[in-house]
Amino acid sequence: MILICPKCKTELTQIDNSLRCENNHSFDISRDGYVNLLMSQKSGDKIGDSRASAHARHSFLSKGYYECLKKAIGERMSGTVLDIGCGEGYYDTYGGELYGFDISKEMVRLAKKSNKSGNYFVANLSHIPIKSESIDTAMHLFAPFNESEFFRVLKVGGTLYSVIPGENHLWEMKECLYDKPYKNDEKPPKTEKLTLVSKTKITDTVNIGEEDLKELFSMTPYFYRTSEENKKRLDGVGDTALTVDFVILEYKKGLTK
Ligand SMILES: [Zn+2]
Repeated sequence: MILICPKCKTELTQIDNSLRCENNHSFDISRDGYVNLLMSQKSGDKIGDSRASAHARHSFLSKGYYECLKKAIGERMSGTVLDIGCGEGYYDTYGGELYGFDISKEMVRLAKKSNKSGNYFVANLSHIPIKSESIDTAMHLFAPFNESEFFRVLKVGGTLYSVIPGENHLWEMKECLYDKPYKNDEKPPKTEKLTLVSKTKITDTVNIGEEDLKELFSMTPYFYRTSEENKKRLDGVGDTALTVDFVILEYKKGLTK
């Protein structure tokens, strides 16, 4: 098993319905099949996405607006895979050995429910409870970047696919909300340890109804930065042809660093 104890970093072994390390730290496998490996016993749902927002996200993604990204990510997975900040596992179509974690317990529960063969656990990305050099392919979508942990868990020659919003992502929504909308800058996260080897644009236009558009808006960081006045601009907007635009950044862990 490539999972390690979050307290003492030694290997975990499954004994009945729990994972245990050689120092007898024990973590129960929940009835739903995932394990909570968060160091702090504060539930991930206090610090991660709340239960309600986990379900909102789940129901939104299941409508398929981000299908093009799901397909592109699925095609890139091979070997032992780690989904960093897996959410409710929407992008985990890979049929091989898959590990996924999120800080939200509810997200992890939903991920395990939809991908029974996946190994899901609750954890923080600053302390990933995975053995060093054990991952062939890692995926990381719209989550904070933690260079040293990502580098540590990857095998030499392993690949990290990091997804950031493209310059035109949700453009028509932003045009409706703001007088002077800005394009996203597509700036790759800074890293000295991993080498950026390619950049692929994934773009699509999806038809979205007003209700789903508002739901989507409420899940974006824009929501909290937009005045109540401007938020009202989506009222009566009707069906929209909306651009979804992503950049898949491919990073390699080389021999030399
Ligand atoms: Zn331990």
